[in-house]
Amino acid sequence: MRVFKFGGASVKNADAVKNVAKVLKQSNTNELLIVVSAMGKTTNALETLAKAYFNKDKQKNKIYKEIKSFHDEVISGLLKNKTSHAYDDIENLFIELECMLETKPESSFDCVYDQIVSYGEIFSSRIVSTYLNEADIKNRWMDAQNFIVTDNNFREGKVDWQLTTDMISKKLKPIVKKQMVVTQGFVARSQDMKTTTLGREGSDYSAAIFAYGLGAKDVTIWKDVDGVMNADPKKFKDAIKLDALTYSHAIELAYYGATVIHPKTIQPLQSKNIPLYVKSFINPKGAGTVVGKNPKEKNIPTFISKSDEVLISISSKDFSFIVEDNLSKIFQAFATHKVKMNLMQNSAISFSVCVDNSGENLNQLRSELSVYFDVRTNTNVELLTITHYTDKSIAELTKGKDILLEQRTRATAQFVLKHI
Ligand code: ASP
Ligand code: MG
Repeated sequence: MRVFKFGGASVKNADAVKNVAKVLKQSNTNELLIVVSAMGKTTNALETLAKAYFNKDKQKNKIYKEIKSFHDEVISGLLKNKTSHAYDDIENLFIELECMLETKPESSFDCVYDQIVSYGEIFSSRIVSTYLNEADIKNRWMDAQNFIVTDNNFREGKVDWQLTTDMISKKLKPIVKKQMVVTQGFVARSQDMKTTTLGREGSDYSAAIFAYGLGAKDVTIWKDVDGVMNADPKKFKDAIKLDALTYSHAIELAYYGATVIHPKTIQPLQSKNIPLYVKSFINPKGAGTVVGKNPKEKNIPTFISKSDEVLISISSKDFSFIVEDNLSKIFQAFATHKVKMNLMQNSAISFSVCVDNSGENLNQLRSELSVYFDVRTNTNVELLTITHYTDKSIAELTKGKDILLEQRTRATAQFVLKHI
């Protein structure tokens, strides 16, 4: 049993969806579960729609129409038989969303967000499934909400592993054994039957959750790049593909900002030793990158650069040491305001942290900390992480920049940099 995940770029228009069929024919896999994301930039558009609906903004109808006509165009490039039931089913989903928009928003914004934004994956999985059936790749559409159960933490649902694994292994596995299944990434359901989502770009994570529950042989994430590269090819023109990565290296890269794999994806796979392949849907015969327990990893310096970071320096007002009791106050404030620490370092009377620029949360954190500490911030800095670093790679990557903070372990070097 295998799991394939097709992201937004791989289903961004009719030609892209046709290419999915090609990839599937070429891979000739039985017992396959396909996880698809929303088409192209649909999730961003639905986010805007959710905001407009919640704020009772008149723009909502216009935004809805744009989303509908984008999908209509994909559909007319793909589906021939517009009188079929499958076609009606897709139309009905749009009517469902349109009718929801006419009602009054009655829950929190985060809940409303999930009820609306999840339609992106529902639309795309329906369209892909219907097209594949017409192209003679017989499959069954299934609702991921039946299987992935989370708590009520809308927009970042926490998976109930016991229930989810039970549902997938008992209810979904027997179906996948008989027939190819197409389902959605990103979406889930709470125990009280509300739609939840797993956090932006969470479809990779969904694929890993399904693979875990199915006890899959492997997972393949189909991307528009050849595999995991040693640097972001959009920023570094000499980026090269890494043939193999250990789970721990992949987790580290994803955690520090490599966008190629969602950070939560690795943990479930690692715990069942399920290999992850990252492959190109443009060149599906290419070997891609394998992420596993002991693959032969070459020591190639690999860089991740995160821009628009903020360096916060926290020091005591009275020259008292920043030790355990002060640190626990600081950590508590970060947890309360949900600000994630990307890098931290302490000295006798100060504590420095590099974080993402999360706007309002960060402002609230700063004002809380300012009650007890002197807080200085340095905005618009870069966090550079180099794994398998060499002196040469460090010299090249930090050239012409001020190093505000630096930290090294045997395998990883990190720098907070300011452009001069
Ligand atoms: N469609 C969702 C997003 O864009 C989930 C995903 O693509 O992984 O965030
Ligand atoms: Mg995506």
